[in-house]
Order: sequence, then structure tokens, then C-alpha cells
Amino acid sequence: MTRVLRTRAELRDALAAMPRPIGLVPTMGWLHEGHRELMERARSENATTVVTIFVNPRQFNEAADYTRYPRNEVRDFAIAEAEGVDVVFAPAIEEVYPPGFDTTVSVGAVARPLEGAARPGHFDGVATVVAILFELVHADRAYFGQKDAQQVMVIRQMARDLAIGTEVIACPTVRESDGLALSSRNVHLSPADRAAAPVLRRALLAAREAWDGGERSGDALRTVTRDVLAAEPRADVAYVSVADGSTLAELDRVSGPALASVAVRFGATRLIDNEPLG
Ligand code: AMP
Repeated sequence: MTRVLRTRAELRDALAAMPRPIGLVPTMGWLHEGHRELMERARSENATTVVTIFVNPRQFNEAADYTRYPRNEVRDFAIAEAEGVDVVFAPAIEEVYPPGFDTTVSVGAVARPLEGAARPGHFDGVATVVAILFELVHADRAYFGQKDAQQVMVIRQMARDLAIGTEVIACPTVRESDGLALSSRNVHLSPADRAAAPVLRRALLAAREAWDGGERSGDALRTVTRDVLAAEPRADVAYVSVADGSTLAELDRVSGPALASVAVRFGATRLIDNEPLG
């Protein structure tokens, strides 16, 4: 039986009686196969699995994006139950940010480019809520998706710097059969935009192919990626990046592990994806 808990006190009491190790999967709900894979991995590696469902207002830099973010608790709870999750923590906003809450966790350099530059305040919101969740759950391991590669890097940095003992584990991106990375936001795509959206994957695979073929110029790899995106008129490109795999600084030459990543708008819906190089 999955227990659904709403308050910090309920969560603390329940976890005190549960076997360790504890695996944590933080989510914003509208659960899909990507989240399921994280839950499955957490379950396979831990005695207790905790999933949090919280649409975190602090990580939305656009009010409209927060308001229209899809929500369906009943469905989410059923999915967590089917995945054998022990505890779902689905708190109200005041339970996460009690009255008088006035602290921000702000990660440095790795949080600045890409999503950090495109969405001011986003990673402050992410780092702050994840720090709270890590403290509330005291998980041994926490599972995140590689789809949000920069988010994983920001959380790793935060956990290391704040001496939080939770091990941060990145899991592979789960995709639709046409290559589109699963995302709760995909539900907002019009049929025409949904049909066009796999261009993100094709663009990143073109970069990967060029890299596999020996191309090491950052500009050349970015151009290959951009050219594929440019062929799709519905795609409004926010950024194309080929960056260092540990600092996310844009690269002139790729000489070690790197990350190719893109952000693209289709109408009001913004999608991201990435492909590690090397
Ligand atoms: P979200 O609910 O969108 O905040 O995502 C919660 C967690 O699921 C994050 O760690 C995401 O990176 C991860 N996630 C979202 N989509 C996918 C996907 N397609 N494949 C793997 N993990 C994902």
C-alpha cells in the first residue's frame, strides 16, 4: 500500500519507522514513463521508496507556465501505487514554504548558463526545494532524469556544498518511439507541434553523428544542430549549446566529455533535450 502524506510531521513520523536505505524521487507530478523509470530504479536499489509530488512555484519564472502546468493527483497516486512506491509526499505550498520562509539556495557557475540564463530564478527555486526535500526525507539516494542534465549538475553541486549525504543518481532519458523525450509539458503540444517536436532529437543526433565522425569544433557542432532545427518552421529555437560536460561553459573545441543541448519553443510550450558527447 502506498501512503499519501501531506505534512512534514506525517512524513517524519512515517519515515522513522521505515527500513533503510531510502530512495527519493522528486517530481512535479503528471507522472509519465520517465518518472516510472526513476521509481523503478529507486525501488530496485532501496528498501523504501519515496516520491514527492509538488509543483514548485519558486522554480517557474513565468506565472502562466505555473498556472497551466498539468496536475492530476488521483492518476499520479495510482501510478505510484502501481510502481510499488511506499510513500507519496504531496504537500501544500505552505507545508514546503511555511509562513515567514525567507531562504534561497543559490548555486553558482553551473546554474548560470543555458536554463539558468533563459529562466532567471529557475535554479534557485530548484535548489531551494530540493534542499528542503533532501532534509525532510534524509534519503540515502535521490534519482533524477538526465533529460534535465543541468538540473542534475546543479543539485549535485548543491548537495556537495551543503554536505548533504544523499547520493544524486542520474537516470537515462526515456523517449517516445519517435525520439521525443517524455515531458509533462508535451500534453500542451498541438497535434502539429507534437508531430514536429522530434526535431529536437534529430538535431542532437546530427551533432552526435558529426562528433562520432570526428568533428571537434564547437561552432561546427552547433551549426549542424541548428541546421536541423532550422528545417522545422514550427520550431522557435531558444538556444543550441555544445558545452563542457562538467562546467557547462561553451566550447570552441571539444576535447573531453561534453554536452550538446537545445531549448526550443513550439507555441507557448518550451521543450529541452540533450545528448552527451564523449
Ligand atoms: P518533473 O516532474 O518534470 O520535475 O521531473 C521529475 C524528475 O523526472 C526529474 O528528475 C526529471 O529529470 C525526470 N524526468 C522527466 N522527464 C524524464 C524523461 N523523459 N526521462 C527520464 N527522466 C525524466
